[in-house]
Amino acid sequence: MIRVIKDYTAIPDGLTSETAQHWIEKALCERKNHNANAYVYRHNSVVRSLRKIYIDKCGYCEARLGVSSSIFVDHYRPKKGVKEKDDHPGYYWLAYEWSNLISSCGVCNNKKSYLFPVADEKDRIYQAQEDRSQWRADSESLRSEMPLTLHPEIDDPEKYLALDINGVMREKKSSVKARITIEVCGLNRDSLVLVRNKIITEVRQRLWDTAFSIRQDVQDRRIRRKEEFLKVIRDRFTGDFDLMALKKNPKEEYSLVGKCMLQEFKSFFIDTVTDEAIRNILHAVFTLFSKELCIGGE
Ligand SMILES: [Zn+2]
Repeated sequence: MIRVIKDYTAIPDGLTSETAQHWIEKALCERKNHNANAYVYRHNSVVRSLRKIYIDKCGYCEARLGVSSSIFVDHYRPKKGVKEKDDHPGYYWLAYEWSNLISSCGVCNNKKSYLFPVADEKDRIYQAQEDRSQWRADSESLRSEMPLTLHPEIDDPEKYLALDINGVMREKKSSVKARITIEVCGLNRDSLVLVRNKIITEVRQRLWDTAFSIRQDVQDRRIRRKEEFLKVIRDRFTGDFDLMALKKNPKEEYSLVGKCMLQEFKSFFIDTVTDEAIRNILHAVFTLFSKELCIGGE
């Protein structure tokens, strides 16, 4: 999950039309019995905007959504019932609320389902606020619920989520919100860990291959002087860093992996190496590239 910028004032036509207004009023009357109209919240204009804003990716797991397959429009706050509270009618009034609609893959949509944990049940909101400006996910009213699921348009997921060197997602600073989000969306399901691990392994292999080639040249005395050594490092590792820079581009699938690899370069790629010469080369790489690529980890 990464931060996504959505303009809450640029509401797609399908959610402001007369038809949409009719369905909002209907929801307000029917409350827990309201069956949301997918033709309204999945209107072409909504899907088109979500695809653009989320760059054809799932807002929770960052999987690429097929160009031809339809995306799932997930309700951040579930529209019909809440798993944690049997007596909750569901956030029926937010069924057609732009800030409550998230681009999602089928699996995350299904995992989240009716789950919507909050920090303290006494703060949970049970009915529509009269002031509709408070329906926005970033409103004071809805924020006061203190949801325990990260909202990709409001929270900054990178402050909460990290990956270990095997691609398993972890919470930062013991964040409960991050831990619960990982559980609720199933962000450590086997298929996701596997694909994140594959990205990390590919980059690690490339870095090691480059480092081994340099170690060989040093051993065979083809590289002798320090300036020469640094130049060779810069030249040969540039392609590997270009690859890492590409992986962190938000357009890429699972771009959080790319960000974590750069931020935690030391733990991902140096700390696990036992060969002293290779470690030294990777340390030199770290020093050389750290400034320009904002690598962290020290
Ligand atoms: Zn997903």
